[in-house]
Amino acid sequence: AMLGNLGENLTKTMKKLVGMSVIDKKTIKEVVKEIQRALIQSDVNIALVLDLSKKIESRALEEEPPKGITPREYVITIIYEEMVNLLGGDAAGLDIDVKPYKILFLGLQGSGKTTTIGKLCRYLQKKGFNPAVVCTDTWRPAAYEQLRQLTEEMQVPLYGDPDNKDALDLAQKGLKEFKNRKVIIFDTAGRHKQEEDLIAEMDTLDDIIQPTESILVIDGTIGQQAGEQAKAFSQATDVGSIIITKLDGSAKGGGAMSAVAETGAPIKFVGTGERIDDFELFDPERFISRLLGMGDIQSLIEKAEDNIDEDMAEKTMKNMMSGKFTLVDMKNQFEMMNSMGPMQQVLSMIPGLGNKVSKEASKMTEDKIEGYKIIMSSMTQKEMENPKLIKQSRIKRIAMGSGVEEAEVRDLLKYYNNTKKTMKGIGKRGRFGNGSMNRM
Ligand code: GDP
Repeated sequence: AMLGNLGENLTKTMKKLVGMSVIDKKTIKEVVKEIQRALIQSDVNIALVLDLSKKIESRALEEEPPKGITPREYVITIIYEEMVNLLGGDAAGLDIDVKPYKILFLGLQGSGKTTTIGKLCRYLQKKGFNPAVVCTDTWRPAAYEQLRQLTEEMQVPLYGDPDNKDALDLAQKGLKEFKNRKVIIFDTAGRHKQEEDLIAEMDTLDDIIQPTESILVIDGTIGQQAGEQAKAFSQATDVGSIIITKLDGSAKGGGAMSAVAETGAPIKFVGTGERIDDFELFDPERFISRLLGMGDIQSLIEKAEDNIDEDMAEKTMKNMMSGKFTLVDMKNQFEMMNSMGPMQQVLSMIPGLGNKVSKEASKMTEDKIEGYKIIMSSMTQKEMENPKLIKQSRIKRIAMGSGVEEAEVRDLLKYYNNTKKTMKGIGKRGRFGNGSMNRM
């Protein structure tokens, strides 16, 4: 699993949030606690976790959801936004705008540097760039051979010479060899006898190659230590961006990513497995979406909203059938039509409903319904619940209040009375007839 159990735990928490019957201070705190626990398990720095939870909690408790968004959806949005911020916000990617675009690859031995060079070559090939690789790692005997096998498979040209022990000379010759290529990738040593030697070599290579971009490869399984490593490298050289590897199955990947993001260096790609295609452009928004299971959550929210509609529908239908049909029910009916589709479709869901209502209903155009809704908004709650109250003087007032002719108010009342009568008839048949209403 990606990032060990982090994704699973977060998705579980989000699903729980969707299923909660009320969203209040207590439930928000509970959700934040679960997020904290999941992140700390993933080795995310405690201070970062506390900062994140404080932000989520105060925003969730204080901010008003924008119009059309339920409090539940808004809490989910806040969690998503704050988690994206934790990882640095926007996707960076590579902008290959000069030729040759020279990439210097840095990273400790074992970080996955060689494998990642292969992955980036494949990625660039798919984008239509034809990269070439130069091997300057004179320290590890197998480095050249490993690169040779990787590049040969993809038909990527490689320059190197296992007998040449001069990294700087190799870099110069490689530069000359591939000066007409769009992208040149330089592999460097990931280890030396002394750390200072490694840093000195990186510095000189940097001078000779004058890279367009230096990419540091970091092993994601080291957790929040990745932040220290990123800092150490950027103090020694000019690190432009980071690739974090081994995010598949590593419980500590979340810690590595957040710690690197905190240093300000952009994470551009992530490695998610040993195969050449287990590599992706790092996009915090997409990444967090997946981690939180947002696709699932979206459909859960929709389902929850459907249920609310169904509740309202059931109540309205019950009132309709029992003859207790009021203007409140009619208004609900109109609202349902908005969310459930055309009236006929809504009515077709009611067992035993005759053609009469659907025919009448189908004559109701959307404009007419909108007009009726405006008229109803000028009625008092009492009038809505007891339409019999609406006599001449009230009709006059309602017409004035909603800016329509009195005839239109009467038209609405006629439609209401007709619908009520038909509903009552169906209700009776259902109750005293073949029992089809039991299905309701
Ligand atoms: P280098 O010494 O930095 O060049 O590291 P290598 O490229 O030789 O990789 C070291 C090990 O890490 C190899 O066994 C790779 O298969 C493995 N590795 C590299 N990237 C990933 C990754 O994203 N996921 C996993 N699971 N293994 C990886």
